[in-house]
Amino acid sequence: MSGIYIHIPFCKSKCYYCDFYSVTKSNGQEGFIKTLLGELIFRKDYLTNKQVDTIYFGGGTPTILSPGKLGVILKRLKELYEVDRGAEITIEANPDDIYREGLDQYREIGFNRISIGTQSFFDEHLKLMNRRHDAAQAIEAVRMADDCGFGNISLDLIYGIPGMTAIQWEQNLEIAAGLPADHISAYHLTIEPGTRFGRLKKAGVFSEIPDEQSAEQYRMLLAILGATGFEQYEISNFTREGRYSRHNTKYWMGDSYLGLGPSAHSFNGTQRHWNPASLTRYTDDINIRKPPRGETITPVMHRNEYVMTRLRTSRGIDAVDFKANFGESAWYELLFMAEKHLLKSHLILENGRIWFNKEAWFHSDGILSDLFLIR
Ligand code: SF4
Repeated sequence: MSGIYIHIPFCKSKCYYCDFYSVTKSNGQEGFIKTLLGELIFRKDYLTNKQVDTIYFGGGTPTILSPGKLGVILKRLKELYEVDRGAEITIEANPDDIYREGLDQYREIGFNRISIGTQSFFDEHLKLMNRRHDAAQAIEAVRMADDCGFGNISLDLIYGIPGMTAIQWEQNLEIAAGLPADHISAYHLTIEPGTRFGRLKKAGVFSEIPDEQSAEQYRMLLAILGATGFEQYEISNFTREGRYSRHNTKYWMGDSYLGLGPSAHSFNGTQRHWNPASLTRYTDDINIRKPPRGETITPVMHRNEYVMTRLRTSRGIDAVDFKANFGESAWYELLFMAEKHLLKSHLILENGRIWFNKEAWFHSDGILSDLFLIR
């Protein structure tokens, strides 16, 4: 089964940490939708596995489009693609866009999962990051989504925010766990070049929090969500009641997906493609039916990506599957490369499966680089 991702490239304003592609102009929606509907036809044959069982509207801010406009896109997508009856269909939403009638309409259109960008339940953090909502709106948004019958709700949290105390982080986690959401994505703040925070860092007036404080907040994340019934199934993702993100799991399991809209990436099993991160260039390319840029995945790229993405998940790497993909000797080569981290218990090898020790997951970048082939 395949997934489809739709990138809606509009935001009302730019959050200071965000490096996703979006524009803040209020016009251009109609033109974008027309182009996107054209791309739906143009890319129709991209997926080799035609059956689609996840659809994800992300961005940008999908909820900046009216429910009517979102409905037009989703309806056309369902007409053109083989969408499974039980497909997971997610919409990302910001708390300031959420209102009762809109939620009802999202459900009528066909969305059955909502991912709400709550980020923090403290106004000072939200202001610092230039979020457009306050803490009360974030809490109300999650409750409203539940009242309106969204049984599958995810919320986002950010930790490692400069100035956030351990007590505030603890309270954020407890508030999140007490809300009617069975999925939480928790990401450490990263300061990316090209963002407002990136420019402030370059000017020497803003920086990441110390490593030890970051590690402590990660430990609190595991402890508090673990104690409230959440299972960590991926380095930054937690679920209870088995409500893991089926769409994002496709990225980690190497399944095929089609990405539509500016900056969206696609993967068909052997090649990866990406649309330009510019609304103008995207529109020009689709208008002349110019195929997106791409690359063929070499055997070494495939093997390294497999190791990286599987080890992001709690399932880790299964020896039988790894050998089926890369051969018997490649498995022993991997074990040899992993030996140092197995001895230090950063990685665990048991019953023909290798996975990250949860505490070591936070420092996984350095460990993973030891497992990559460079030839
Ligand atoms: S975090 Fe979301 S709402 Fe904020 S600028 Fe990025 S895409 Fe837009």
